[in-house]
Amino acid sequence: MSTFTVINPSNEEVVQEIALADIAQTDAIIEKAAKAFQSWRYVNPGDRARIMRKFATIIDAHIEELAQLEVLNAGHTIGNARWEAGNVRDVVNYYSAVPERLFGRQIPVPNGIDITFKEPLGVVGIIVPWNFPMPIAGWGFAPAIAAGNTVVLKPAELTPMTAIRLGELALEAGIPDGVLNIIPGRGSVVGQRFVTHPAVRKLVFTGSTAVGKSIMAGAADQVKRVTLELGGKSANIVFADADIEKAAANAPGGVFDNAGQDCCARSRILVQASAYDKFMGHLETAVKNFRCEDPRLETAEMGPLVSATQFERVKDFMTPDVKIAFQGTAPTGKGYWFPPTVIEHSNLNDRAYREEIFGPVVSVVRFEDEADAIRIANDSEYGLSGSLWTRDVGRAIRVARGVESGNLSVNSNSAVRYWTPFGGYKQSGLGRELGPDSVDSFVETKNVFFDTQS
Ligand code: NAD
Repeated sequence: MSTFTVINPSNEEVVQEIALADIAQTDAIIEKAAKAFQSWRYVNPGDRARIMRKFATIIDAHIEELAQLEVLNAGHTIGNARWEAGNVRDVVNYYSAVPERLFGRQIPVPNGIDITFKEPLGVVGIIVPWNFPMPIAGWGFAPAIAAGNTVVLKPAELTPMTAIRLGELALEAGIPDGVLNIIPGRGSVVGQRFVTHPAVRKLVFTGSTAVGKSIMAGAADQVKRVTLELGGKSANIVFADADIEKAAANAPGGVFDNAGQDCCARSRILVQASAYDKFMGHLETAVKNFRCEDPRLETAEMGPLVSATQFERVKDFMTPDVKIAFQGTAPTGKGYWFPPTVIEHSNLNDRAYREEIFGPVVSVVRFEDEADAIRIANDSEYGLSGSLWTRDVGRAIRVARGVESGNLSVNSNSAVRYWTPFGGYKQSGLGRELGPDSVDSFVETKNVFFDTQS
């Protein structure tokens, strides 16, 4: 049997060996999920809701345990990891309202009555990346099972531990065996089988744009539904009329959180030329004070990168021509530590400026006016997130409407709230997760006409 050795990214110590599923094991679990679907879909809505609320309560009782697992497995700061476990609880709780409110419509038509029904799809395959193992799992499985589907979920090879534990807690909550199945395994084996197995009716994929494209192409063969959350290179636009000190003080958190391994990272800061020097002065102070340290410490704002591979990927962007304006500090010695790094560009075709680095590196560039800011922000194949800082309400509205991105915040860098839709424009993805409507991507709409004339 093949296994994967989980390594603690903070100190490179071995944490655990995880068994990886092969094709036959994957098929067996998919078939189990398909069987469980035949009963889960018919569980009374009130009962399904109650079981989900119980699941949320049980997650709540295990927040600290789940958080500590994530610190160990992914190097997340303890503060972030507690938030992430709490987010799964909140998302499960939020979607527990769905079973009892999965309304169809009655549509006026001649000679009869027309009703739509929202029906579950069947088995949903969820492929999770390593950057936010808990929340991204929950954003997929909570609305999926709430709508009456069953789930097969593959965590990333690097970070399976919290997903495995969540699967155990689901059983403890009374979610029937076979409804939420966690299958640790390789993307090329288990993930790929989700794409080709006909019983898997929908794929939810979060990860790199390259793999996302291959999943979308593979899904075409069976016209399989897909939701894709892919990369980003989001712009943080700072106008001269903004509270420059506040924008600069907040900028490190907007990009270096989770060591920059965040599809929403504001990894391009666009600053109006007239405020550039002032902004950079405050940014330097903020970056040098940003606490990159042992993620177990309550004071930690940033931990290590997730793996040696990710460290090498990030380091590869730091070619001799890259102009580093300043850097923060990071521990030395064992662990995949990379300091918060600020770079400037004379050429916007630089690889480090255009590609998603997925590490604690941010590019800062100047712009002249509003139109210039929108043009530079949109000059990217991505469009996931972003921020803009200004005191001018009209400008805030114009720029927010002008930037091609799924999630923007004005005078803040916050990105994800479970009450609101989350997803990308352009090559950042397809479809939306979270919010009141995400359940629509886990159901088919069936239209039934009843003839009243005969
Ligand atoms: P990846 O896209 O290879 O992996 C994401 C998930 O997809 C993992 O669970 C993986 O096992 C699975 N997977 C991989 N190949 C697959 C295949 N052929 N079929 C089905 N599933 C497959 O990401 P990675 O290699 O871990 O990271 C590479 C880069 O991707 C990062 O440096 C970063 O730029 C980007 N990334 C982005 C996000 C995001 O949230 N947007 C998340 C992780 C990684």
